[in-house]
Amino acid sequence: MSARIIDGKDFASKLRARVAAEVARVVAASGRKPGLAVVLVGEDPASSVYVRSKGKATLAAGMESFEHRLSADVAEDELIALVDRLNADPAVDGILVQLPLPRHIDERRVITRIDPDKDVDGFHPVNAGRLATGLPGFVPCTPLGCLMLLKDVHPNLSGLDAVVIGRSNIVGKPMGQLLLAESCTVTMTHSRTRDLFAHVARADIVVAAVGIPGFVKADWIKPGASVIDVGINRTDAGLVGDVDPTVADVAGAITPVPGGVGPMTIAVLMRNTLVSAARREGVSLDD
Ligand code: NDP
Repeated sequence: MSARIIDGKDFASKLRARVAAEVARVVAASGRKPGLAVVLVGEDPASSVYVRSKGKATLAAGMESFEHRLSADVAEDELIALVDRLNADPAVDGILVQLPLPRHIDERRVITRIDPDKDVDGFHPVNAGRLATGLPGFVPCTPLGCLMLLKDVHPNLSGLDAVVIGRSNIVGKPMGQLLLAESCTVTMTHSRTRDLFAHVARADIVVAAVGIPGFVKADWIKPGASVIDVGINRTDAGLVGDVDPTVADVAGAITPVPGGVGPMTIAVLMRNTLVSAARREGVSLDD
């Protein structure tokens, strides 16, 4: 048996098209374009590439992109002052500070300074709390993108056994919360988990967010399970995921790397920015 390959690239481009259509409605109703401010500190090459792609996607969705590039040695208070200005700026619906920040800057202070209602990355503890307690807020883009792909395969996730491998604040933990909210029975696993494969073997749904190339093996997987590979690992062999490619021989559905979860992240960021603008303007959205 060979798994259905979940085409994240195609799903993301359709999502972006839906977002662009809804942006046009918000513009017509409010008379202004939704705006996303992206702050980049320093010149880390990977971060620069991400920031450029986010800016391009924002413009392509018909929204306003505000890019702020600060030098690597900027004072923490200067960055905080910029966040304060963006919080107060009515043209800005979403604020994203590209991580990681240089070591002399306290990342937590910066993230918690962002107005939770403009925190389209969903990293502010207020949004983590809203997710955990079932209140509307912003959910981190990567796990929300994973959930959208999963729901395309399983429109009703209720009662399914889900195992999340990894417990980071930006992927693993919010992924677990999202699956719990869908009434899955969720097992969170991490580097201290004993007999990881025994947990994975019971799962109908496996989400791997570990950061180790090819970590999840085919003989761990229950035949027919759905496997979401969040990993993006740069190796000599190119870009590879956290899931061994032979898992596709056992799973029922699987996301490829590249072309699975990766393209979803920016598409969901566009959606979160649209949602923020619609809320602020009192415009209701289709989905
Ligand atoms: P982190 O390094 O923050 O977290 C990795 C998690 O994996 C930790 O919770 C860690 O456990 C766990 N882990 C490490 N080793 C093992 C092990 N041997 N067994 C079980 N669990 C283990 O990574 P992120 O969550 O930020 O990212 C994970 C992957 O997803 C990376 O490859 C990253 O590049 C990718 N990524 C992709 C995105 C996308 O857009 N597609 C966006 C964000 C990330 P512990 O907590 O105990 O240390």
